[in-house]
Amino acid sequence: MIADRITAQGNPWNFDNSYLQLPEKMYSKLNPVPVKAPSLILFNHTLAEEIGLDVKGYDWQKLAACFSGNEIPGGADPLAQAYAGHQFGHFTMLGDGRAILLGEHLTPDGKRIDIQLKGSGRTPYSRRGDGRATLYSMLREYLISEAMHYLGIPSSRSLAVVSTGEPVYRERIHKGAILTRLAGSHIRVGTFEYTRNFLGDEELEKLVDYSLERHYPDDLQKKNKALALLDVLVHRQARLISEWMRVGFIHGVMNTDNMGIAAETFDYGPCAFMNAYNPATVFSSIDTEGRYAYGNQPYIAHWNLGSLAGALLPLIHPEQEKAIEMAKEVLNEFPAIYQQYWKEMMRNKLGLTREMEGDLNMMEDLLVWMHKNKADYTLTFYRLSHDKLQEDPAYLEEGFIHWLTQWKERINAEDGTLDDARAIMKKANPVHIPRNHKVEEVLLKAADHQQFEPLETMLELVKSPYEERPEYEPFKYGPEQGDGNYRTFCGT
Ligand code: AMP
Ligand code: MG
Repeated sequence: MIADRITAQGNPWNFDNSYLQLPEKMYSKLNPVPVKAPSLILFNHTLAEEIGLDVKGYDWQKLAACFSGNEIPGGADPLAQAYAGHQFGHFTMLGDGRAILLGEHLTPDGKRIDIQLKGSGRTPYSRRGDGRATLYSMLREYLISEAMHYLGIPSSRSLAVVSTGEPVYRERIHKGAILTRLAGSHIRVGTFEYTRNFLGDEELEKLVDYSLERHYPDDLQKKNKALALLDVLVHRQARLISEWMRVGFIHGVMNTDNMGIAAETFDYGPCAFMNAYNPATVFSSIDTEGRYAYGNQPYIAHWNLGSLAGALLPLIHPEQEKAIEMAKEVLNEFPAIYQQYWKEMMRNKLGLTREMEGDLNMMEDLLVWMHKNKADYTLTFYRLSHDKLQEDPAYLEEGFIHWLTQWKERINAEDGTLDDARAIMKKANPVHIPRNHKVEEVLLKAADHQQFEPLETMLELVKSPYEERPEYEPFKYGPEQGDGNYRTFCGT
C-alpha cells in the first residue's frame, strides 16, 4: 500500500533521514556536484524491486539524472559524513571525500537503508582528491558487491552506475562515473574514532545509542551500551570474516574506515578472489607489506575492533584503567569466537554436521596440502562436493589420497552418507567465484571499449554461484598460467 501511495505522488523514494539527528559536526550538508552528460550504464531492476523502488515510469534519461545526482529526489537530505580512520595502521582524518548520502530509504518491509552516490564530486572532506571515481572502478564495485551478495555474504549493494561524460585523471585519463550504493548504514569504526578524537563524550554517547538503535536494538537494554556494541561487533565481524575466508575473498584495504558497524562487506577497492590456496595472497598494489593478505584478515579485524574499543573507552568506564580492562575482556574473546565460526564454516565446506575430535587437524591438513601443491581453493572444494576429483590428476597425489581416506572415514563416523555430506557441501562451496582475470577482461571491455555485453553476461553468472552452468564453463577456472603479477589498483 505504501508503495502505491508514493508512486501516485510521483516519488519512488520513501526517505526518512535519521542521520541528521546526530550532532552537526558529524556531517556536512551539501548536494552532489552536477555532471556534464550523465548516461545510464547499469541499473539493478531486481534490487529496485526488492527495496520497493518503483521507477517503471522513468525513462533512461530520467534515471541517469537521478542516479548522477543532477536531480535530487524529493525527501532526500544530501550530506557527506565525517569520519576518521587508521589507514595501514596510521590514524588520519577522512570523511566522505567523494560520496554523498542522499538519505535513508525505508523499504516496504521496514528496512532502513542508506542511499549513497559514490563519485559525486568534492566535499569538505576531499582533501586533495577530485571527488570523482572512474567508470572502471565503479563497475568493479557493482560487479563484486553483487557477487558477494549472491554468494550469501552480507554486503553493500549496487543499484546503478551512471557515466558522467567527464574525464577523471589518474595514472591515465579515465571515464568518470557515479555508483549508487545501498548499505545497512555507512557508520564505520572510523566514525567512532572521529567522534572520540575530535568531538566529545556526549557526541560519542549519541553515536553509540544511534548505532544500537539502528542495528542492534536488543542491546539498547544493556547496562553498558558501549561494551554491548563492542561485544556484538566482535561476533558479527568474526562471522563476516569467516565468510570471506569461505570463498577466498580478499578485501584488500581493511582500514578502520572501511569496517562498518552494520557488519557488511563494503568499500570495494582493490579486492580480489584467491585462486591457488596461499594464506599470504595479496593482490593490492598498495599493500606492499601484505598487511591485508588473505590469511591476515581475521587478525586485522581483531586489530580494527581494538581501535573501536579504544574509541569507546570513556563510555565503558569513567576510570580509564578499568575501562581498558573491561574492553580487553571482550576483545580477547575474538580469536576463540572467530575460530568457532571458522570451524563451523569449514565443517559445511567438508559436509560435517557436528564437531568431533581431530576435525581441526583434518581441516588444516587439507589446507596445507593445497598450499604445498598450489591447488585452486574453489575448485578443490567444488570437486570434492561434486565428486569430480577425477578432473585433475593432481588429486592422485599420495598425500591427498591419504587425506581423502581420512575424510571419508570421518563422514562415516556421522549418521549420514557421503551424498548427505555432499548436499551440505554444495551450499557452502561455490562452483563460480568472480575469477580476477575474467573480471578484468569484462571490465576493460566495458570501461574502455563500450562493450557491455560481456559484463552483463558475468553479472548474470554471479547471480547463481552455486549452480553448474555449462555455458559458463570457462569462467570456472583461474588463469592457466597462474596469477603471475596480477595486481589490483586503488587508482579509483
Ligand atoms: P577509500 O580508500 O576508498 O576507503 O577512501 C579513503 C578516503 O579517501 C575516504 O575519505 C575517501 O572519501 C577519500 N577519497 C578517495 N578517493 C577520493 C577522491 N578521488 N577524491 C576525494 N576523496 C577521495
Ligand atoms: Mg573507504
